[in-house]
Amino acid sequence: MDLSTLARLPLWIDGRAVPAHTQRYGEVTNPATGEVIRHVPFADKDDVDAAVTAATSALPDWRASPSLRRARVLMRFRELMEAHKQDLAEIVTQEHGKTLGDASGSITRGIEVVEFASGIPHLLKGEFSDSVGTDVDSWSLRQPVGVCAGITPFNFPAMVPMWMFPIALACGNTFILKPSERDPTMSLRMAELLREAGLPDGVFNVVHGDREAVDAILAHPGIKAVSFVGSTPVARYIYETGAAHGKRVQALGGAKNHAVVLPDADIGFAADAIIGAGYGSAGERCMAISAVVAVGDAGDALVAELGARARRIKVDAGDAPGADMGPVITGAARDRITGYIDRGVAEGATLVVDGRKPRIAGHEDGFFVGPTLFDRVTPEMTIYRDEIFGPVLVVVRAESLAQAIALINANPYANGAALFTRSGHAARRFQQDVDVGMLGINVPIPVPMAFYSFGGWRNSLFGDLHVHGMDGVRFYTRGKAITARWPDDGSAAPGFHMPLMG
Ligand code: NAD
Repeated sequence: MDLSTLARLPLWIDGRAVPAHTQRYGEVTNPATGEVIRHVPFADKDDVDAAVTAATSALPDWRASPSLRRARVLMRFRELMEAHKQDLAEIVTQEHGKTLGDASGSITRGIEVVEFASGIPHLLKGEFSDSVGTDVDSWSLRQPVGVCAGITPFNFPAMVPMWMFPIALACGNTFILKPSERDPTMSLRMAELLREAGLPDGVFNVVHGDREAVDAILAHPGIKAVSFVGSTPVARYIYETGAAHGKRVQALGGAKNHAVVLPDADIGFAADAIIGAGYGSAGERCMAISAVVAVGDAGDALVAELGARARRIKVDAGDAPGADMGPVITGAARDRITGYIDRGVAEGATLVVDGRKPRIAGHEDGFFVGPTLFDRVTPEMTIYRDEIFGPVLVVVRAESLAQAIALINANPYANGAALFTRSGHAARRFQQDVDVGMLGINVPIPVPMAFYSFGGWRNSLFGDLHVHGMDGVRFYTRGKAITARWPDDGSAAPGFHMPLMG
């Protein structure tokens, strides 16, 4: 399928590209130019139903196939993703806007989950106890949940779906992906590569769309588990609605990630790390640093170093040589972000670097916002409270580590947080006392590797289990415990009391 020439994207159902039933379509734009490059169907209930029918028919054979065979399909998929990484990165850059190097790095992080999932024969091993009673043995199994769905955000069109489906498929489930309608093409390329890797038809399906498709997924009785990643209000809605329909749900939400810089830190090192974490991917990362807490004397030097570096960032189209940062996703996102900058100024924060009017030669219609830095921000200001999801970094001053930790723990979001220090004692206190899901110590974006689990606390995650790592295996399987006896003379007497072993 040559996706570059398609005016209207298809769905992917039962191992092939199919036109959508719906007549509702949305526009997909190239954020660097502002041009509409293709149209995406907004699937309706019938489209979702067709995907569930395909996924349900494919389930019995797929779940019964040996886990090693399922793993080998993923191993071939991994090779194909590696072989096509450059063209896949170009798709991400064209529809999302991030730089090619960043796009390629995000695909690598997704491939690492495929590598983790390829170890599924080992990961699915249960427990066994012999002789829990006289001649009685007991063991446990983990079995697939059934048809699973993933609903994903625009900011990582390859990596976030890959947090989900490799593990779901490895565990023996079938899967329906509802990717973001803003950058939907990557999902279709991954579907093609899964087919090329030998995945049976119907095991992986793609349904594009907006709220209508999401609601059809949440209400469908054939879907047993839903993984969601996106903004907090939608995450909460998905969790509550999915649970009300009896589904297992994990819903990862938004973030406001803090980096605390202590006076004993290497300020140059901290500034380099924070600049990449704050402005990389134009700040459109759920693990971006968006609030810096400068403790004590660290403040003035840090703000000077951050300001100097922010002014040197090269903003350009994601495929332009030497670009550090591309555009944001839509014109509406650009206007929302510049609106926040106006608000920060109005509320009295000090604007150190103003990114409201970047001039990118040849890309006058692109959705660009330059790196923006605010100092002397207070916790009451809107630019501190809200998730801006753009290249806006705010610096809050604090007196002590204890005050910085209290600030982090009072924030409704709790995805990631980082500390810059040379003190092991301070680092240990941070690790013990910060109520946040993922922490970095002298590491600004502490995204756990695929073999650990990823997820936040409070409003950054609704549900019990994080994604990938062993939490992913637990989410996509159900536990079963078996107790067995094989009497050889059939002499067991009926018993009416509570059964006891031993
Ligand atoms: P979003 O919540 O707008 O959309 C996410 C998904 O939900 C998309 O597939 C979209 O089609 C669907 N959706 C949107 N509105 C809906 C509604 N009203 N009802 C039902 N479905 C709806 O998020 P986004 O703008 O695509 O992504 C950015 C957000 O995602 C940020 O808040 C970011 O922090 C968050 N995010 C979080 C993580 C994490 O791991 N916690 C990772 C990546 C992104």
